[in-house]
Amino acid sequence: MSSSIESILGELNPAQLEAIEHVEGALLVVAGAGSGKTRVITRRIAYLMAQGVEPWRILAITFTNKAAGEMRERVHALVGDQGAWISTFHSLGARVLRRDIAALGFDERFTIYDTGDRDALIKQVMHELDIDSSHFRPSIVARSIGELKVQLVPPEMFAERELGYFDDVVARVYPAYQEALQRNNALDFDDLLARPIELFEKHPDVLEHYRDRFQYVLIDEYQDTNRVQYQIAKTLSGKWGNLCVVGDADQSIYAWRGADIRNILDFSRDFPGARTIKLEQNYRSCGNILAAASSVIAYNEGRIERTLWTENEDGPLIGEIHAFNDREEAREVAARIREHVRNGARPADIAIFYRTNALSRSIERALRDGGVPYTIVGAVEFYQRREVKDVLAYLRVLANPADSINLRRIVNVPSRGIGAVSLAKLEAHALQSGQPLLITILEPESVPGLNARAKTAVGQLGGIFRRLMERDPHPVGPIVEALLMETDYEKYLLHGGGPEDLARYENVKELLSSAREYDAEHPDDGSLPGFLEDVSLIADVDRWDQSPDRVTLMTLHASKGLEFPIVFIVGVEEGLMPHSMSVDTPQGIEEERRLFYVGITRTQRELTVSWTSGRTHFGRGVSGTRSRFLNEIPNELLKRQGRPAMPSVRPSFEDGPVPDDFGDDLYDPLADLDAVSWRVGDAVEHEHFGPGRITGLSGLGQNRRITVEFENHGRKKLLIEYAALSRIEEFE
Ligand code: ATP
Ligand code: MG
Repeated sequence: MSSSIESILGELNPAQLEAIEHVEGALLVVAGAGSGKTRVITRRIAYLMAQGVEPWRILAITFTNKAAGEMRERVHALVGDQGAWISTFHSLGARVLRRDIAALGFDERFTIYDTGDRDALIKQVMHELDIDSSHFRPSIVARSIGELKVQLVPPEMFAERELGYFDDVVARVYPAYQEALQRNNALDFDDLLARPIELFEKHPDVLEHYRDRFQYVLIDEYQDTNRVQYQIAKTLSGKWGNLCVVGDADQSIYAWRGADIRNILDFSRDFPGARTIKLEQNYRSCGNILAAASSVIAYNEGRIERTLWTENEDGPLIGEIHAFNDREEAREVAARIREHVRNGARPADIAIFYRTNALSRSIERALRDGGVPYTIVGAVEFYQRREVKDVLAYLRVLANPADSINLRRIVNVPSRGIGAVSLAKLEAHALQSGQPLLITILEPESVPGLNARAKTAVGQLGGIFRRLMERDPHPVGPIVEALLMETDYEKYLLHGGGPEDLARYENVKELLSSAREYDAEHPDDGSLPGFLEDVSLIADVDRWDQSPDRVTLMTLHASKGLEFPIVFIVGVEEGLMPHSMSVDTPQGIEEERRLFYVGITRTQRELTVSWTSGRTHFGRGVSGTRSRFLNEIPNELLKRQGRPAMPSVRPSFEDGPVPDDFGDDLYDPLADLDAVSWRVGDAVEHEHFGPGRITGLSGLGQNRRITVEFENHGRKKLLIEYAALSRIEEFE
């Protein structure tokens, strides 16, 4: 034990020690980047256990599953025990709800809808309410509802407010959407946070169970908690009062998703008697990095002044690349990376950050051309791929027969002759009989108006489900295998014979191996809903495989909490960093500045920032100017290279205005950036037809059509809504 105490309390400064040894009562640790906040949380968990606290009485919350996994490993290494709950807020919510959601009228086999499923359901609800989804994009309505949920505003409360035109729509859709979720026995991501609070309020006995259990609650990255997360923390720690939160208000970067910086600023008021400890020594970064970061963040007004110092050497100056365009920028970054590697750096020591995913394309190309292996966090999310989602849809219906959104998705996949008309008849019958769609499919004989052919097809689908439902719901691997066999999925995917088909098939096989992995990890407590839950809660960054010989590419948002010896931040231009969507308000700019601060402070040793005089963005040329944030780094810390830098604070995008309706998506670094407006002349890529160029647009709303001249398939006219198109930068 004593040797373990030594390692638990080793390599800590007095302030860190104080935080770890402060056992009883509320505790706030506020500190700048790289000062050991996460280390404090990890060591504190281990310390509590070493003091005899039973592991299951400890709840620790981190921002990603990956961070939770790493924390679990470290605690295990320190005290050899893994019993503490270390998870994200969402996993915690899911776990609580699996146990007790029956009290809210759901079945514990509920499905978790991702944003795509959510939008599909919203669209259906809007259709039922006769609200034109070409006027109001379902994803925007969905997002507004999400905002209300994380603010803990229920539908009836919202409806009472003074509403405008758009809010009126939201007020009508919100309650109907909640009902539809319940009908489908499904929850969206925000429900995973809001429903537990509802459960605790309506069922104090359930709350009591957790309150009693969680004697110690610890939360990392507290500055990015939103209202409902705050409520969860406060509620769960309510009995023992041992809530320990750590955070840095200067790193709050999720206000646009509802994060509320007041949670950290008001902590002492919310938890009277709370102790506040400041950490001021930075262990991560070289002196020059820290000086640059401190200088930039000092431009934010209304922040709490702080000192952050380091014993580390000054290290190299910060490199600044000014390139003519994005290609040159990417080439220069790739060349410097090659040089680092020649000088002995491991590729895994190197990261490239950018403000939006769209910026990665030119970088990727240059890395490929330069033979630099890389891994990209959050490019195309594996579980969002069509073929993977299709297989998952089958599994979700199997686990939760009420789930009509997923059932609709695969009714005719692989194609079996159930067309839109038959589906409408099936749905009408389901609605009328008050039964889930699946039941109707299992008994097609009773559906009026179905022709013989459709009946056979539906019977075939029903047969597949019937046979699958007879199987043991665990282990999961054999279910997936049986499903692939029943649906002849391999043949369906490979019928085209192209390389993309093969890649799709490989993805499905990867899904199968992840099911088998799940089985191996859960020999006793596994289940199909459990596997599906794991899959639903996986975030981009969780799938990031930190292989030693790859450079990592990710958005600035995804870089939170991480550290790398060598960092590049590209696209440090007006309009991108700060982003044009945020420059209209001082708060917007301050959040962008915090984001830049987060990026800088990931660096241990060597930072390079780059900007261009022009870039091709979404198929158009836009001019670029040096970001105002670079002016906030003292000149003597910068080592400029490339063209003579022209300091300027002029907003860019002057020659290529941002199309008005891509704002919302662009603003969300996790969203698919291509779900935006199209223009004649844009280069695009279609799933099947390959690259092409838009030559025409016609129609409105759902009937909007796009004409594309494909390089290898000639001219095609497609319905935009269903066209699997993505914008590409350009093709040769
Ligand atoms: P961020 O604000 O980015 O989340 P943080 O405050 O959580 O940073 P950590 O990630 O815990 O900081 O620590 C930063 C680095 O400093 C890590 O590599 C950590 O191992 C190291 N470190 C922390 N405290 C000490 C210490 N007392 N002695 C030596 N190294 C330390
Ligand atoms: Mg941290």
